[in-house]
Amino acid sequence: MQSITIQEIHLHPVALPLVEKLKTSASSESFKSAIIVELITSDGVIGWGECPTKMAPSYAYETMGTALHVLAQFLIPALIGKTITSATEIPGLLDEVRGHPMARFSVEAAAWDAIAKTNTMRLADLFAAHLPAGHSSKGYATVGVSIGIQESIEKTLEIITKRVDQGYGRVKLKIEPGWDVDLAQGVRKVYPDISLMLDANSAYSLNDADYLRQMDAFNLLMLEQPLGYNDIYEHGKLQPQLQTPICLDESIHSANDVRLAIEIGACKIINLKPARVGGYTESLEIYKFCAENDVPLWIGGLLETGVGRAANLAFASLPGVTLPCDISATDRYYNPDLTEPSFKLGEISRIAVPDATGIGIEVQRDRLVNAVSLWEAEKPY
Ligand code: MG
Repeated sequence: MQSITIQEIHLHPVALPLVEKLKTSASSESFKSAIIVELITSDGVIGWGECPTKMAPSYAYETMGTALHVLAQFLIPALIGKTITSATEIPGLLDEVRGHPMARFSVEAAAWDAIAKTNTMRLADLFAAHLPAGHSSKGYATVGVSIGIQESIEKTLEIITKRVDQGYGRVKLKIEPGWDVDLAQGVRKVYPDISLMLDANSAYSLNDADYLRQMDAFNLLMLEQPLGYNDIYEHGKLQPQLQTPICLDESIHSANDVRLAIEIGACKIINLKPARVGGYTESLEIYKFCAENDVPLWIGGLLETGVGRAANLAFASLPGVTLPCDISATDRYYNPDLTEPSFKLGEISRIAVPDATGIGIEVQRDRLVNAVSLWEAEKPY
């Protein structure tokens, strides 16, 4: 493997209008914010990464403000001038910074892309090279679509129909107290057989166990993160009371969190967001644990632009990712996106991994400049 020397890293804070807002029990935003990370090697190869931070500490504690600060003051200075042969060396170079997983993830992702491009490989194949034999990329990811909280069940059904007609094979609905059992019942009446799951984004407490047990009537693929956003213990008390498998999202920050959650029976399924666990190095550890222990695994989404989505798509194409992922086609999110070509939904709810090296798509400089201008105009601080 040919090494890279990290010469420059540039940060592009961006704002992009969303095609469709995503209201959850925890947040609602009219546009998407992110920091696009551009890493340039001494050979002139450019690697791209995305820090998918929101403006407010709602999904995670990191914000655009904290990420820009930690990247510029601590993470980038620790990497400039360093020569690495594998992006798995990045966490060690950043180990003086505690926390801030999304910021750390973004520079690591840019290094993964740069190393893949330097070695004329697709990122998906570079990931597979860090796994045991038999884990080559499938060349596509199986995906689903996530639908935010709507004003009525009728409106939700309208959107589900549109997405099912587009070819999405799995539907995820965001729920909150009062927008849950009736919603699932209403959807099941019209769609008794679609692959359906619910995401609570931490809207319930353990006292709601009896209430949540009603969900067992709806043949759900899973119930995602019903309890506290940092909790594993109480999910361990809830899961035995439900037939519906619990999936943990917000609570999982590391491979150790996954080991703990599975060992105490807090969940049966893992939603892996590589940005939430600090990088693809940690994500590969989680992948290996889930593969060895037959734990169903899927890749979640943070409304990433094409930059972040392309890298997650590469990871989601690995065979140990066994359930549909929250990686939808470009037209679900942005028009236009920052990148080309756009991701299209193919047959049987799949999105293909591009053939080109690295993340396989190109950042469009004019759109990046526009998105930075929009951030400058919209930023609340
Ligand atoms: Mg979730």
